[in-house]
Amino acid sequence: MKRKIYRMIIHILYTTKCPQCGKDVGYMDGFCNDCRKKLTDVKESVSIDGCEKVSAVCVYDENVKQAIYVLKNYCYNSAYAFALLMSEKLNKENETLPYDVIVPVPITKKKHKLRGYNQCELMAEELSAMTLIPKDFKSVVKSRETTDQKELSAKERQSNLNGAFEVRNKSALKGKNILVIDDISTTGATLREMCRCLHSAEVKSVSAIVCCKTEKMGEVKID
Ligand SMILES: [Zn+2]
Repeated sequence: MKRKIYRMIIHILYTTKCPQCGKDVGYMDGFCNDCRKKLTDVKESVSIDGCEKVSAVCVYDENVKQAIYVLKNYCYNSAYAFALLMSEKLNKENETLPYDVIVPVPITKKKHKLRGYNQCELMAEELSAMTLIPKDFKSVVKSRETTDQKELSAKERQSNLNGAFEVRNKSALKGKNILVIDDISTTGATLREMCRCLHSAEVKSVSAIVCCKTEKMGEVKID
């Protein structure tokens, strides 16, 4: 209810816009109907070592490119819009119940300060409010800066991330079913490393939900 009122106030002040086309939408809407219809379904299932299931809202292409840019750069309404689609996807697959906690892919403290926010945390915040699955922003941290993944080959991406994530509070996660949230999965390197890190904390299971999946590595340039 609080979130609804908050969104209503923001809507009165700034009007809520579709993150893809910029058209005015209702204050509880994410994407406008036209943009929503255009999102490309992910046909092939994604599999990642150590991950029970990976769900993606859509394929990364021109139909979602601007919304991802907004999510990564100033975020307005995009975290909510993607979380809304994620919660619908989880509900459709009847998969909200098995998860005990939502863990966003972390960024370093330095990057957080620079950008002002972690888009995965914002989506986790929204998804947690929608599904009532608790969130945990503190137990996993990114302890070192890594080279931007988009500059690297598939092999380099994995070694670039080795040991980059660290569980700070093992007891908070032990024995739990974790839902990791990320924006884009290209080679799956980030999710694979998150899985490795979480399993070291003796979690029961790890699944993941992402906004977009690229169809093939290097096929689309992510700005
Ligand atoms: Zn739109």
